[in-house]
Amino acid sequence: MPPTPAARTPRAALAELLAGNRRFVSGQPVHGHDVTAAAAVASGDQQPYAVLLGCIDSRVPLEAIFDQTFGSICVIRTGAHVLDRAVCGSIEYVVGQLGVRLVMVLGHERCGAVGSAVEALRSGRLPEGSLRYVVDRIAPAVHEVGADDPDAHPLAIRRHVRRTVATLRADDLLAGPVGAGEVAVVGALYDLATGEVALLPEE
Ligand SMILES: [Zn+2]
Repeated sequence: MPPTPAARTPRAALAELLAGNRRFVSGQPVHGHDVTAAAAVASGDQQPYAVLLGCIDSRVPLEAIFDQTFGSICVIRTGAHVLDRAVCGSIEYVVGQLGVRLVMVLGHERCGAVGSAVEALRSGRLPEGSLRYVVDRIAPAVHEVGADDPDAHPLAIRRHVRRTVATLRADDLLAGPVGAGEVAVVGALYDLATGEVALLPEE
């Protein structure tokens, strides 16, 4: 049996995360100042209560914006939180082996990776190398909102979060616990200007 995280339900885990973001926004973090080796050692065995999938953007450090300490959340970051099998397998591990009940996909305003996909689809010039893989994963969201829409960038950011959430909810090993209400996968957006995280409403 996996260990029982401090937050035993998806709802409790979400409340804990959002409370951390409020501490961060208010400038009164309780953990953010204690980034020391001693604090890391004191964390002991890990009992994370959430796994967060976010973007590589240097302005969006997930532990900081949720005021989390060592051992409390698992963090995965790729350009525009693009999924691949390693990412999905990692989330499956955290949910299945560590007993985590909450998966959050966090997009952010002015995401450069989504912007690159919008530009690539508008110009028809697709990048080479593995960056092409990343752009290809974002492209469906851009197509859905319309690459030529003047607001394609902010709209595609939101659409891409929703698509990522939907993919994870349908994941082979996650669909069962999600369907049973034991695990929640939620989408959210980080505002670079205010530091606030807002949940994306269900459609
Ligand atoms: Zn980004």
